[in-house]
Amino acid sequence: MPVVYLVVPCYNEEEVLPETVKRLTAKLSSMISDGKASEESRMLFVDDGSRDRTWELIEQFSAENTYVGGIKLSHNRGHQNALLAGLMSAKEHCDCAISLDADLQDDIEVLDQFVEKYTEGCEVVYGVRSSRKTDTAFKRNTARSYYKLMKTLGVEIVYDHADYRLMGSKALEALSEYKEVNLFLRGIVPLIGFRSDYVYYERHERFAGESKYPLRKMLKFALDGVTSFSVKPLRIIANLGITICLLSIIGLIYGLVSFIIGSSVAGWTSLICSVWFLGGLQMLCIGIVGVYVGKIYSETKHRPRYTVEKTIIND
Ligand code: UDP
Ligand code: MG
Repeated sequence: MPVVYLVVPCYNEEEVLPETVKRLTAKLSSMISDGKASEESRMLFVDDGSRDRTWELIEQFSAENTYVGGIKLSHNRGHQNALLAGLMSAKEHCDCAISLDADLQDDIEVLDQFVEKYTEGCEVVYGVRSSRKTDTAFKRNTARSYYKLMKTLGVEIVYDHADYRLMGSKALEALSEYKEVNLFLRGIVPLIGFRSDYVYYERHERFAGESKYPLRKMLKFALDGVTSFSVKPLRIIANLGITICLLSIIGLIYGLVSFIIGSSVAGWTSLICSVWFLGGLQMLCIGIVGVYVGKIYSETKHRPRYTVEKTIIND
């Protein structure tokens, strides 16, 4: 029976944590008593530098419940980094780790299916949403177009899969070799390879508290996904530049010809338009190049992606 670790990133989740611990404990103990998971299986709550009582709660629960473990990051590093911190700690103790959100949006009833697939030999199991009923129309449409965009840009990501997934110890080991700072796990995991499968589930509403992903963070995350995995935007710019150069040569010839045959007019409008247009275009291009340069900058610093302050794991 595999040792299963449930890795749960938590940022200001004091409102949901008691319920999450209760439900996950019930689920995990039933999996253990059904012989699906080993007695040494644990839940690992990663406190991502919360400002509320999240860490106190984790400490308190771990004292009274052997299944509860926790790690405390010294500062808020964002969902992806918190998740990575949890997975890397879990890697030392488990056969497979399943990552899920603290807010009970990911249906925990399918946890057995993840483990079953792992026992059948899958190293990576993706949780895929069977529908997007609980999303707003805006979220649904933007998500759909985002997946399409990623596909055209040549990034391999699993449709409607977020971060509800199982990874075996081999996959985790491979993941630890990816040193990038601009972390987008959904893009990295498919690159790791290994045999993989899917588990379908219904995503619920958040149990309590509010989303820690406002639109601003979501946009940044989406942009990170593109710029961390695809250099196609750079190529598009280059192509655009070439096209515009060719067009301007034609324009130049046209201008020369009309000058020679003496029909040229002092076209202030066209002149000012092209100045503005080209100025804007250049700025846009420089901006996009800048995004990549910024990434190179942060990658070359090789800063640690998180710092673990404390760890509790009951044996
Ligand atoms: N989270 C985190 N650090 C952050 C933001 C979020 O660890 O900086 C955690 C959060 O506690 C939750 C998960 O990431 O367990 C998903 O966040 P949330 O539910 O707020 O996002 P949504 O489901 O609304 O996309
Ligand atoms: Mg959520």
